[in-house]
Amino acid sequence: MNRRNLIKGVGLGIAAGALGVSSRSDEAVAGTYAKATKGLPPLKITGVKAILTAPQGIRLCVVKVETSEPGLYGLGCATFNQRPLPVAVAVDKYLDPFAKGRDADNIEDIWQNAYTSSYWRNGPVLNNALSGLDQALWDIKGKRANMPIYQLLGGKCRFAADCYTHCGGHDLKQIEASVRKGMDRGFRHIRIQRGGYGSGHLSKEPHFKGAGFALPSDSAMDVRPYVEGTIEMFDHVRSTCGDKVELLHDIHERIPPIEAINLVKRLEPYRPFFIEDPFAPEDNGYFRQLRQQTSVPIAMGELFNNPHEWTGLVSERLIDFIRVHISQIGGLSVARKIATLCEWFNVRTAWHGPGDVSPVGHAANAHLDLAIANFGIQESVSFSEKTKDVFSGCPTVKNGYMYVNEAPGFGVDIDEKAAAKFPLPEHPGYWSPVRRSDGTAVRP
Ligand code: MG
Repeated sequence: MNRRNLIKGVGLGIAAGALGVSSRSDEAVAGTYAKATKGLPPLKITGVKAILTAPQGIRLCVVKVETSEPGLYGLGCATFNQRPLPVAVAVDKYLDPFAKGRDADNIEDIWQNAYTSSYWRNGPVLNNALSGLDQALWDIKGKRANMPIYQLLGGKCRFAADCYTHCGGHDLKQIEASVRKGMDRGFRHIRIQRGGYGSGHLSKEPHFKGAGFALPSDSAMDVRPYVEGTIEMFDHVRSTCGDKVELLHDIHERIPPIEAINLVKRLEPYRPFFIEDPFAPEDNGYFRQLRQQTSVPIAMGELFNNPHEWTGLVSERLIDFIRVHISQIGGLSVARKIATLCEWFNVRTAWHGPGDVSPVGHAANAHLDLAIANFGIQESVSFSEKTKDVFSGCPTVKNGYMYVNEAPGFGVDIDEKAAAKFPLPEHPGYWSPVRRSDGTAVRP
């Protein structure tokens, strides 16, 4: 009997015992399991390595975990676009020796011990490395069980994950055309931005450049043009594109908290689906004040790394959508626990899903979306042909819904030779400074 059939047989035996349809005692069932697995060596981890590639110019990091069963491996997302090299070191030099020889079946045990193996923890570099290992072990578990991951998580709660897409432009007509295009593609939820985050193009020529302060390449934004321009954008899109489309917007922590509170209140007549990141994580204390003044739904969390950042916001019902970046919090094992925590407080999920998540990470988002009761919305993604040359089995988006394939595990594979053809770009990938007109630093 091969391993997969054997596991199936054991599973049926235990299920029959649990339902009481068998006359065997618990001990007998346990004995059946021991007998069935006798002689099979445990599945050992034989190697953990980081694979860096940038087919779309974005620095992707995928972790491959190999096992003692020939040909059986798993993939996990460890993508930290702004600091990929330290993540690769954390994987290759620390998690590989930590994980080698351990039982690949024991995902939770490995997660708990890898998490504390650095003693100091909860930072983005180590969390991403941990996510790569964690998701790869789930991928292996799915392949062993011959099931897609959403089945391991409890099965489908919906046929696909409803998505939002990004639309925008510098002027109102461009934004309107972009929204109409998104609606024509079947999206019912559309995020609108006026230019880049903070609408820097609406600011006057920044004075710091004329004064020779900082570098000429640093960008600028001012609070008032952004706030007034955003309200004007919502007013225009609602009046021209109608009331049926759901509108989303990302403040991206760019303005002082009290300005964000005022902006969200003024957007209330346009009925946003959610407003994202009104504050920086460092300003979490402002959410209570925001809640007291408006019923606009709030999404928060893509910058979160530490449980202290989300537990209070969820348990005090201060946000409506949790928006963590799953590799930044340590992987699927953490995300499913967050989803469960949120379910009890009726907070919905909106996992961060931008271009700087690998196809494996997008698949992890989507598998979880399918299996949880409190799914809210998923940020959609489109993969270039080059990305699909490197990664097969990528999630697909059709009519505003994201689908995963039914292959065991996450269903995404990597062609390492193709990945090697797309080395990381020369620019190290840091987020360039953003400043107010006088040169004061703005959170990005
Ligand atoms: Mg965001």
